[in-house]
Formats: sequence, structure tokens, C-alpha cells
Amino acid sequence: MKNIVIFGAPGSGKGTYSDEIVAKYGMGHISTGDVLRGEIKNGTELGKVAKGYIDNGQLIPDELMIDILAKTYDALPQGTGVIFDGFPRTIAQAEALKKMLAGRGHDMGMMIELVVDEETLMARLLNRAIEQGRADDNEETIKKRFEVYRNQTAPLSEWFENEGLRHTFTWKGSKDQMLAEIFEAIDAENN
Ligand code: ATP
Ligand code: MG
Repeated sequence: MKNIVIFGAPGSGKGTYSDEIVAKYGMGHISTGDVLRGEIKNGTELGKVAKGYIDNGQLIPDELMIDILAKTYDALPQGTGVIFDGFPRTIAQAEALKKMLAGRGHDMGMMIELVVDEETLMARLLNRAIEQGRADDNEETIKKRFEVYRNQTAPLSEWFENEGLRHTFTWKGSKDQMLAEIFEAIDAENN
């Protein structure tokens, strides 16, 4: 399987679709948000640093994130393909990921972009706040995360397009439809 970068705003469904892709294709899955929340839960030094940024809706600094990503990647079994969920989020992270993979004889494979309007995103995240109680799922922090996404992460979409990797899927109200389109694109890439 080719590697996959899954890309989109907070609440766009990166984690949800990643789980579906993993269930169907048996790939590895790196969610940088989950990695960081695990560190916070375990009370590590890294977790303490990360918490300050996450609770403020800001990004963890690139150098730190790139280091975490490489360590997480190298700990996974090789050869099954990996989904990168929540990474890269900046151009610097994208360049670093490309270089890190090239150094191991691998590449990014394909990028899946999830496009969802902000009103839907906000509703989903406020609902998730009730269900999961994530500290950063409150209206004020969500607004900051949207702004960070618009300013720092969304410009990356074009970077992926220039790399010839981008596949865009726009939310039209049906998860099953979205999933069918995503599976079709993955199958076509791995024919
Ligand atoms: P969702 O999980 O619904 O897609 P999200 O994209 O906001 O929403 P996560 O990917 O779980 O959530 O990330 C949560 C927080 O963790 C981010 O707001 C950021 O502070 C930090 N984080 C995660 N990945 C990165 C990254 N690649 N670079 C910098 N910070 C990150
Ligand atoms: Mg997530």
C-alpha cells in the first residue's frame, strides 16, 4: 500500500476516515494529535510542553513535531503503508516529511483532502466536546484552531497539488458517499 496523508480542518473527519481506511486496508496509522494526547495523559515532559500549545489552539513547534513524527514512524512495522493523520500541518513539516521518507526509500504516496464548511465543522466539534470532553473542543479554542488552520495549514493544500499528490473530497452530507469516493481513489492509486 502507498502511504497516505489525510488532510483537512479540525473536525473534518481525518480520524474517522483513517479508522475506516485502516479497517479496510490494514495500514499503519499515525495521529499526531493522539500521540500528543497520550503524552499529556502520561504526564511526560513532552506532554507538558504540548498541553500549553494544544489548550491554546496553537501548533506545536515544527522541530519538535518533526522529531516526534520520525520516531513514531520508525516504531511502526514497515511495508504496510502508513496514514499520516494531522501531519504535516505546515510547509516546513511537509518538506521535512518528504525528506524523512526519501531518506528511508519511501514517499508520501497520495494526499486525501477533506473539505467541509466551517459551520458543519463547528457543530461537529461542539458535539464531540459533549461526547469526548477534549479540552480544546470549546468554542473559543475551536475558533483559534480554525484561524491557525486557515493561516498555517490550508496553504499546504497547494503544496500537495504541486507535488501531484492531492485528491480532494468535499462534504455533501453523506459519510458513506465520501467513504466510497475515498476508497475508489485509494484503489486507483494502488491498482
Ligand atoms: P480533528 O482531530 O477533529 O481532525 P484537529 O485537527 O484539531 O481535529 P488533532 O489533529 O488531534 O485535532 O490535533 C490537536 C492539536 O494537537 C492541534 O490543535 C495542535 O495543537 C496539536 N498538533 C497535532 N498535530 C500537530 C502537528 N502536526 N503540528 C503541530 N501541532 C500539532
Ligand atoms: Mg483527529
